[in-house]
Amino acid sequence: MTTVERSHFAFDNTYARELTGLYEPWRANVVADPRLLAFNDELADELGLDSAFLRSPDGVAVLVGNVVPDGAEPIAQAYSGHQFGGFSPRLGDGRALLLGELIDVRGRRRDIHLKGSGRTPFARGGDGKAAIGPMLREFIMGEAMHALGVPTTRALAVVATGESIARESLLPGAVLARVASSHLRVGTFQFAATTHDNDLLKRLADYAIARHYPEVAGADNPYLSFYERVVDAQAALIARWMNLGFIHGVMNTDNMTISGETIDYGPCAFMDAFNPETVFSSIDHQGRYAYGNQPMIGQWNLARLAEAIVTLFDDDTDTAVKLATDVLVSFTERFHTYWLAGMRAKLGFDGVAEGDVEIVNDLLALLHSERVDFTSFFRTLSRSLRGDSSRLDALFANRMGLLAWMPRWRSRLGADDAAVAERMDAVNPMYVPRNHLVEEALAAGTHGDLSVMSNLLEVLSDPYSERAGLERWAEPAPIEYTEGYATFCGT
Ligand code: AMP
Ligand code: MG
Repeated sequence: MTTVERSHFAFDNTYARELTGLYEPWRANVVADPRLLAFNDELADELGLDSAFLRSPDGVAVLVGNVVPDGAEPIAQAYSGHQFGGFSPRLGDGRALLLGELIDVRGRRRDIHLKGSGRTPFARGGDGKAAIGPMLREFIMGEAMHALGVPTTRALAVVATGESIARESLLPGAVLARVASSHLRVGTFQFAATTHDNDLLKRLADYAIARHYPEVAGADNPYLSFYERVVDAQAALIARWMNLGFIHGVMNTDNMTISGETIDYGPCAFMDAFNPETVFSSIDHQGRYAYGNQPMIGQWNLARLAEAIVTLFDDDTDTAVKLATDVLVSFTERFHTYWLAGMRAKLGFDGVAEGDVEIVNDLLALLHSERVDFTSFFRTLSRSLRGDSSRLDALFANRMGLLAWMPRWRSRLGADDAAVAERMDAVNPMYVPRNHLVEEALAAGTHGDLSVMSNLLEVLSDPYSERAGLERWAEPAPIEYTEGYATFCGT
């Protein structure tokens, strides 16, 4: 094994240093034939990393886990999780490693994490591996969310391992190098709570405060303020998802971050025709993580976080529970406020007016009953302000409801139609990673043709500006495709 010159990375591994008890030091599997499939130059620049080096064989050896760069301290992080409602006290990184932390060019601390890098002490029955398709999916979805302005983890690279891995069929394996503002999850706190080591729990909370919410350190009750900040960050995040028609698909507590970044793009998807019951995950039989359930599940997960850290809120249990409950309950109002502000912006409304919620809710009921494509609707609506209603009309088989709703919407707008349309287009994406486009990119990528994915990424990198020649990327999938669509979890 070679070592890599220190100059390539300046790791500073606070998690490993400060949170003994919440990880196992570990090494990635060495793979025989690594090949770089996808690389994120923009993110590498942001991290102050040398793209030319990372794309070279020595760099790829680092990205796949074959070589531990100088300064890295690979660890498998421990966490628990409520999965589909049931508690698993010991999950943890079963097939992933935190390589270390870097300070990016803007001074932000970022985790560099490998996923699919082999079995760890947390692997349970799993093989520790990942297939190319799901890792490319994570790359695409993360970049799309980033370009849409949604807090998210991002992929730095996907490297094919040259190995075949056993799923329903044999699939080519890959390792994803992922970047996050941290990998602290609700499940990390749940794990700390299971140890009954209050000092460890406190250290974790102090660590999370220092890393994500340093401004609460001086508050009267820093741990309660910390909890409030997490509740607020998740309310804001889930509101963004709802505004965009994004379905995470597996909102287990181990997949909910403390930072408020979207993490773990498994069975996620953007909804086509508006329907709150939409579920894409093939393993979500009950529809627990359906589009319309996401706010409620977010709050449920935050209740689990409160349970894990409630002892830090007050020495008196009743007082502590009361404090936690008040913050938890505030999720509903916070979410609603973020969500409504987002919907107002989507509809081009300025300021706040009585009756906005009704206009929004009646619209959503209409989109639901007419099975209208959620993303297309808002762009065709702004287009109608520019004098072309043909695309809007084409979305509705029956226009009665639309005809009744339009004047209510119109009467709420300012005088300058062009300005309203422009504002709307700045928040309503033209291009989202539609399921059929993602699948097409993954199928080609799995067979070695990365050009389809790179075209898609190019389109998604600027989602709000309509460009000639990209009509294909804006179109909904055929309805038969949408209704039979399932994504597969964590393979
Ligand atoms: P996920 O729902 O994909 O976030 O994963 C839930 C848990 O299962 C985490 O602890 C993962 O590390 C673990 N896991 C998922 N897939 C594998 C695998 N192939 N091998 C080992 N652990 C896995
Ligand atoms: Mg996960």
